[in-house]
Amino acid sequence: MSAMQSCDVAVIGAGPAGATAAFLLARHGYDVVLFDRHDFPRPKPCAGLLTWKSIDLLERLFGLSLARLSQKGLILHSCWNYRIYYKIKEIGGGRLDFPFHFIDRTVYDHYWLRTAGAVGARTIMGVAVTSVDAQTGRLTLANGLTFAARVIIGADGIWSKARRSLPGREDRERRWRVNLAGTIELRRPYGQKATSDVAALHFGYLPWGYAWSFPGSNSQTLGIAGLRMSRDRSIRKAFSNFLEDQGVDSETATHWQSYPLPYGNFLCQPASRRLLLAGDACGLADPLLGEGIYYAHASAAMAAKAIIETNLAVERVGRRYGELLGRGLLHELRWINFWRTLLFMGGAHRRYRGLRLFCRIMPKRLEAAVHGQLSFSRLLLR
Ligand SMILES: Cc1cc2nc3c(=O)[nH]c(=O)nc-3n(C[C@H](O)[C@H](O)[C@H](O)COP(=O)(O)OP(=O)(O)OC[C@H]3O[C@@H](n4cnc5c(N)ncnc54)[C@H](O)[C@@H]3O)c2cc1C
Repeated sequence: MSAMQSCDVAVIGAGPAGATAAFLLARHGYDVVLFDRHDFPRPKPCAGLLTWKSIDLLERLFGLSLARLSQKGLILHSCWNYRIYYKIKEIGGGRLDFPFHFIDRTVYDHYWLRTAGAVGARTIMGVAVTSVDAQTGRLTLANGLTFAARVIIGADGIWSKARRSLPGREDRERRWRVNLAGTIELRRPYGQKATSDVAALHFGYLPWGYAWSFPGSNSQTLGIAGLRMSRDRSIRKAFSNFLEDQGVDSETATHWQSYPLPYGNFLCQPASRRLLLAGDACGLADPLLGEGIYYAHASAAMAAKAIIETNLAVERVGRRYGELLGRGLLHELRWINFWRTLLFMGGAHRRYRGLRLFCRIMPKRLEAAVHGQLSFSRLLLR
């Protein structure tokens, strides 16, 4: 049996959350080990839309402006126009003051992993973490290696092993599943069709969720995300109705993918003893539109800040992280959840009228809220 290795911080999962935490902590001089079950580059089902708040955050965290992100080949496409539909009926839209930017997650995630490695984070890829102990800070890998860390960051995505190691697992995981959205996504090559400059959101195919059609440089991404309601289990059926309305022949589509998305299941207790949860592992995605990349980077930056401020003091680090996350992200996610409930509850007719009113009454404020330039708590305030 091999001897146990040690480190200051073990980060499980090298997606946007894990790579961000590893980068910030290694740059600060901590001994960081970043683990991922996959070798990178690896694919990740994602529509790849970045809003203003993500671009702004990337510049603050990594010092890369929008122009530099484009130069490095991370931003593949940008789009200034959007439309909102209830099924095929247009209920809103306009020209954005700041465009939506699109990335390819395979390239994007690989880039941030290399960035973390470049500042000294050790990386152990292609082997899963199989057990996590939040009390002692011990980890075991599938190949039998064991690590002892002063603090662990669980950034291991939706089915987080780290989260499932916390006390109260059964109850929490049951509640977790209630607000877990199913998704399906595919790509449709433009072929003879002209390239589109419109990002479209289509409500009405699912009671609690929406479908999208996002432009890319040589193909369009079409997808659907929504909660599985007891009477309406079939996301697949809703997606085929959407594709039919879009005139998409599913035979010509490529890259079919299906993967769950946190959709209102953010945890209000993101830490226990030596373990801090970040990104999807903590359910941190927007419960209305499903945006998660920003929340992954932002929560990981807060976890790193808590570790640096407390200098790895186990008795204070979790509380500090909870404070930062509560003020910085959970407050906003609760407001988005409030708006979602208001918009999605009730029957189809009420939903249609509510969404139409919402889109028409204050389109610029809504755009600013989606981009993160205005809090959802201030949507109706001047
Ligand atoms: C269909 C779809 C479309 C989406 N579109 C958008 C969008 O347009 N814009 C947006 O902002 N967000 C979008 N999201 C959400 C976004 O993809 C996630 O919120 C984001 O990936 C979260 O990042 P993360 O780092 O927390 O987790 P992940 O990106 O899931 O990374 C977790 C990592 O942990 C690793 N891991 C898991 N278990 C273990 C283990 N036991 N041991 C070691 N490693 C492990 C995994 O291999 C993975 O690399 C979408 C999601 C879906 C499903």
